[in-house]
Amino acid sequence: MFTRYFSVGRKILFSSLLLGLAGALLAGSLQMMIFHHKRAEHLDNINHDIQTYLNGYFSELLNTIDKLQPLTISPCETVAAELTSRAAFSLNVRAFLLVENGSAVCSSATGAMNVPMKQLVPQVDIAKKLDIEILPGTPMMPQKPAFALWVRSPLLENRGIFTSINASMMPWLLYSSRQNQFSGVALVANGTAISTFSPHPLPLSMLKGEPVRTSKISGVPLSVYIYGDAWALESIQFSLLMGAMCGILTGLLCYYVLSVRLRPGKEITSAIKRNQFYVVYQPVVESESMQIRGVEVLMRWKHPTAGEIPPDAFINFAEAQQLIVPLTRHLFELIAKDAPVLQKLLPPGAKLGINIAPAHLVAESFQQDLKDLSAMLPANYFQLVLEITERDMLNQHHAIKLFEWLHHEGYEIAIDDFGTGHSALIYLERYAFDYLKIDRGFINAIGTETVTSPVLDAVLTLARKMSLVTVAEGVETQEQASWLQQHGVNFLQGYLISRPLTLEKLVEAHSKPEKYFTMA
Ligand code: C2E
Ligand code: CA
Ligand code: CA
Repeated sequence: MFTRYFSVGRKILFSSLLLGLAGALLAGSLQMMIFHHKRAEHLDNINHDIQTYLNGYFSELLNTIDKLQPLTISPCETVAAELTSRAAFSLNVRAFLLVENGSAVCSSATGAMNVPMKQLVPQVDIAKKLDIEILPGTPMMPQKPAFALWVRSPLLENRGIFTSINASMMPWLLYSSRQNQFSGVALVANGTAISTFSPHPLPLSMLKGEPVRTSKISGVPLSVYIYGDAWALESIQFSLLMGAMCGILTGLLCYYVLSVRLRPGKEITSAIKRNQFYVVYQPVVESESMQIRGVEVLMRWKHPTAGEIPPDAFINFAEAQQLIVPLTRHLFELIAKDAPVLQKLLPPGAKLGINIAPAHLVAESFQQDLKDLSAMLPANYFQLVLEITERDMLNQHHAIKLFEWLHHEGYEIAIDDFGTGHSALIYLERYAFDYLKIDRGFINAIGTETVTSPVLDAVLTLARKMSLVTVAEGVETQEQASWLQQHGVNFLQGYLISRPLTLEKLVEAHSKPEKYFTMA
């Protein structure tokens, strides 16, 4: 039952691990999200920059071409010079060609000519108003890819300007090498791409991976495809590291806070402060008269969240936490507080049975604690009976001296739960007990066995021989009570007579005498 208290350490550890994990996941994914957002922003910027640059470039070029269109009606010799100078001042332009009736008739590079366009650049469709294609090279620079741009004259159907433009990706390569999260760019016209991935134009389908951004260039049927790095390993590593660090920190913090605030030891101390402990009194009656002769004091813990915690559990626990001494002192204070009322309910000389934990028995303060309790109680009224279990009698030298002192000071001693330990008889012989409390295991057996308990018989004979007063614990049935009465057991305690009662309930019982016991 109290395992949940004993495992508080484990619970704290578990909660801390869980919270740490949650912290790690949260921080890790947050970091990933930040990276993701930054990456998206960066790629948007790159896309925007490239688009703006190419829009500007092509609009300027188309502008130049527009200005060249009137030249198509003049003979090549008269316009060649202007054509050449325009080409020289137009960035990346290899040559402007004047086209008339489907043939190139004048080149800014080579002057007058007469080559059918179908032969020169079969890919370009001069029936269109405007067309752009990507070529692996031009006659003068066969190894260097180029854009072939055709713009028909707006006025004269059969004329127009053909422009070849360097499609070197060198600047892009340089650009992409300086940008992280950006692996490359492709300029795509009519299903062919010139990209930073290859020095030659390739069909778009041969570019591996999907672009992360695409955009169209205004004025020409050209698209820009931006390729991004897959998640950068560094980002993932950093996110993991960040997650791990935050996780560890959260876990440690949580462990610290929980340990400091929820440590069960603290719980007992704070429960004392917050008055969560209270006592109940279980009447003990004389078997012949059924008159109350005393009470056993039993402690209760009303925990605000866990509810009622049984004493078996928290006593062991308090012992393990070295808190049994403060806890018993607190019990003593609670008894002292109730004493004036108890005095009215119980006859003079009434026995107050107090359970003493083994750790308290050997504590240095034990004798002083008892003296303090006696001092707080009404003088010469109650008889204190210390209930000690067999298990507690470890250091016999100490115990013998202590018993002498206790008897000398007027305390009585009961051996509690008699019969549940291992060497009960030896203890009985060795130490001067006043009472023998027969464990309820034996009492339970009464009536259930065909021949009534031979062991119990033997225990009673022994007790009589050693002139010990006997108390039967856990008497629950009338049959058990009668048997015990007939066998000369001196006192009875158990649910048949009364359950442990709070002080108020004890007062109530006093005014309305219960069936099974009578008050003084
Ligand atoms: P215990 O000293 O043997 O106390 C008697 C226990 O038997 C009590 O349980 C009581 O409620 C229960 N009991 C009484 N009559 C009957 C009955 O007819 N039938 C049954 N089934 N049970 C009955 P409780 O209060 O749970 O206490 C359990 C144990 O916790 C006690 O056993 C005692 O060893 C320890 N304890 C309780 N209060 C204190 C305390 O203030 N200090 C110390 N050191 N130990 C305490
Ligand atoms: Ca007891
Ligand atoms: Ca007992």
